Amino acid sequence: MIDISKQTVKINCPECNRQITVALKQVADEAVIRCSCCKEIQLRDNNGSAKKAIRDINGAFRDLDNTIKKIGK
Ligand SMILES: [Zn+2]
Repeated sequence: MIDISKQTVKINCPECNRQITVALKQVADEAVIRCSCCKEIQLRDNNGSAKKAIRDINGAFRDLDNTIKKIGK
């Protein structure tokens, strides 16, 4: 079972411009992450789009999973 919330996205640190890998779930949760330069970054899920993506894509995979199970019968 694929869980899209475990997928990662890359953001750039506003302070040192280093690329930071964060889980999609962290974006959806608007977590505060810390860059290796010690800058704290507040993640923003604009318009709840990360939450929506997780819900939509997980829903799609669930449908697919059910379809595969049906075929397997
Ligand atoms: Zn940084």
